Amino acid sequence: MIFIKQTKFNIALLMSIMLIGCNSQTQKKEIKFDHVSLKVLGTIQDGGIPHLGCNKKCCEEYFLNQTQRIGVSSLGISNLKNNKNYLIDATPDINFQLKKLIGNENISKKLNGIFITHAHMGHYSGLLNLGRESFSSSLVPLFVMPKMHEFISSNGPWDQLVKLKNVDLKSLSNNKPEVLGDNLSIVPFLVPHRDEYSETVGYKIIGPNKTALFIPDIDKWEKWEISIVELVKEVDYAFLDGTFYDAKEINNRDISEIPHPFIIESLELFKNLSVVDKNKVYFIHLNHTNPAIDKSSVPFKNIISKGFNVAEGNMEFNL
Ligand SMILES: [Zn+2]
Ligand SMILES: [Zn+2]
Ligand SMILES: [Zn+2]
Repeated sequence: MIFIKQTKFNIALLMSIMLIGCNSQTQKKEIKFDHVSLKVLGTIQDGGIPHLGCNKKCCEEYFLNQTQRIGVSSLGISNLKNNKNYLIDATPDINFQLKKLIGNENISKKLNGIFITHAHMGHYSGLLNLGRESFSSSLVPLFVMPKMHEFISSNGPWDQLVKLKNVDLKSLSNNKPEVLGDNLSIVPFLVPHRDEYSETVGYKIIGPNKTALFIPDIDKWEKWEISIVELVKEVDYAFLDGTFYDAKEINNRDISEIPHPFIIESLELFKNLSVVDKNKVYFIHLNHTNPAIDKSSVPFKNIISKGFNVAEGNMEFNL
């Protein structure tokens, strides 16, 4: 079973690599018009920052200065060749994140797809803003895996978005590329996570020249049959689960209930990667308690000094 899954994944990877090779050769001359840009629209875990009920130092500044805002983790993809835009995850901060992605353009026309990773609140609850109580969008394509499809279409209030045609549900399959033009594909792949309401996927975003990996939520790396170390080598950017820096920050919760890979565990796992490969890694989906949010902190400096990165809102990459 594991072998089959891995083989399928490798075939998808191979196809992706062939696709990239193909595109970069044929479109070299018109590269300026062929760009796909990837924007980091948010970097924080589902609960956001400031976090409800947090009286600790991590959120103090954010409660005091309400204009200082970092959104919940989300990526925006703009295909400049055909002027189409995609959002990965619909967070509670979707209003200002879509402003960053498409400015004053009409959401029903210029938001050409939303890809959801899973049914945890920070990753899909922003969809409510597309409903008739708010923007009332028209048939925005909503790309989801089978269990998420079932969840949205058979539970209120989400089913109303489908009934009123605010969204147009599109089905994704594990490891099957969703082709969004001759210069852009997005590939979902299953990852282990607490799957109460839906399965959980990460995404591979394949542009004309470069490929990015987005895995905001995953259980410990060891629980996945795919080697994340090998995967990092095959892509150009890897936005990876950096929810917690280490076990110290969760003093009031049972850590076995929250089995994310700690950043320090990932640093150890990735320690033998080349400098070039280490530079590809951007930790994202940081919990409000994660000391690495603060750029003057020792943990942030430790991550950077070892050759890795912490994702920041407004970062932009060409794919
Ligand atoms: Zn999450
Ligand atoms: Zn806090
Ligand atoms: Zn989650």
